[in-house]
Amino acid sequence: MSLIVQKYGGTSVGSPERIKNVAARVAKYRQRGEQIVVVVSAMSGVTDNLIKLAREIMPLPSEREMDMLLATGEQTTIALTAMALHAMDMPAVSLTGAQAGIVTDGVHTKAKIQNITPKQVHALLDAGNVVIVAGFQGQTSEGQITTLGRGGSDLTAIALAAALKADLCQIYTDVDGVHTADPRLVPNARKLEEISYDEMLELAGLGAKVMQSRSVEFAKKFGVVFEVRSSLNDNPGTIVKEETQSMESVVIRGVSLDKNQAKITLTAVPDKPGAAARIFRALGDANINVDMIVQTASHGSGAPATDISFTMDKPDLLKARKVLDSLKSEVGYREVLADEKIGKLSIVGVGMRSHSGVAAKMFEALAHAGINIDMISTSEIKISVIIDLASGEDAVKAVHHTFLG
Ligand code: ADP
Ligand code: ASP
Ligand code: MG
Repeated sequence: MSLIVQKYGGTSVGSPERIKNVAARVAKYRQRGEQIVVVVSAMSGVTDNLIKLAREIMPLPSEREMDMLLATGEQTTIALTAMALHAMDMPAVSLTGAQAGIVTDGVHTKAKIQNITPKQVHALLDAGNVVIVAGFQGQTSEGQITTLGRGGSDLTAIALAAALKADLCQIYTDVDGVHTADPRLVPNARKLEEISYDEMLELAGLGAKVMQSRSVEFAKKFGVVFEVRSSLNDNPGTIVKEETQSMESVVIRGVSLDKNQAKITLTAVPDKPGAAARIFRALGDANINVDMIVQTASHGSGAPATDISFTMDKPDLLKARKVLDSLKSEVGYREVLADEKIGKLSIVGVGMRSHSGVAAKMFEALAHAGINIDMISTSEIKISVIIDLASGEDAVKAVHHTFLG
């Protein structure tokens, strides 16, 4: 008998009808004699609505209370999914993240899993049940409810698959697998049969929200091979696994656009040792992840000063502004300028290591489309540029066309 972890995302459990379809698929596997652990997300739109509700009460709510609120979304779907299985005479029990033994640190809204002790899961499986676990949530060792960052049900599924030593981990979503670009933006994007952890990690971290990036990091660390596939059909999906030699023959695996980025520019920052350290230490202490950083050459008359620009996730912008406003007189910069109308366009592929001229080809594609580049960053297997948000979709199409047809 093998053990399968199946995760169903928001659209896949988006209506009573869809939940019944999920139950039917689960029942099919169960009837073959497999043990099944199901991880579900909140119904699509629910988490967004809860965030909106909270912001109507106050702009920057307590992160502990946010977790208390957001965890309710997944609690609804676990119970409904269990009921849908009961309606088919299939024994099933739902568990919250805490009941499933998921212990996290105390960083509310972005908690990291520290360990999993799935005692109840094992006992319920052994008693013949399908076990349904709430995605996206855990509990600190002191008993506080936490959430794992947006898209965190992917992480719940991968971490449970590792902890339970599952034979198979399937991520069911609303597309047929990982594509060469978001099929909603690039209609002729192709489904990939396989992709390496590193490429998936880069794409996920750069806006391809088909997988949460932390979940891919976890899968790589613990060697969890998983398949991304559709809950709406039986087509084979995309296998995400360790890199193989043949993968390097493809230069670019995929293109992504992250519309969820914001940029801050600090003007006239005193050009002296310690200024940048002070600024980024304060942001780090507030758990704000900074991505690209660009510092201009020293300018101005009088004491040397520079401008520092950096990007971060848009939802952190308010928090970052608060931190930087309070640091202004201490560090001595002139202004804190925020820009939410940016997009980060990236190309990713392990083949970049062994091919040259890739950056030039990308920049030419953007130039031909009349799109200006604001910031650039590269790693061994990716190139990212910051562009104007309004040209984002044209830019993805142009770059996809150049590299992937
Ligand atoms: P779920 O609710 O199942 O977790 P998500 O909405 O989080 O689903 O992720 C699936 C979506 O990811 C797809 O509908 C698609 O629009 C988007 N997406 C972005 N980039 C890609 C890509 N490269 N391949 C496939 N889907 C992508
Ligand atoms: N419901 C959560 C979110 O929307 C987690 C998830 O869907 O994976 O981010
Ligand atoms: Mg998701």
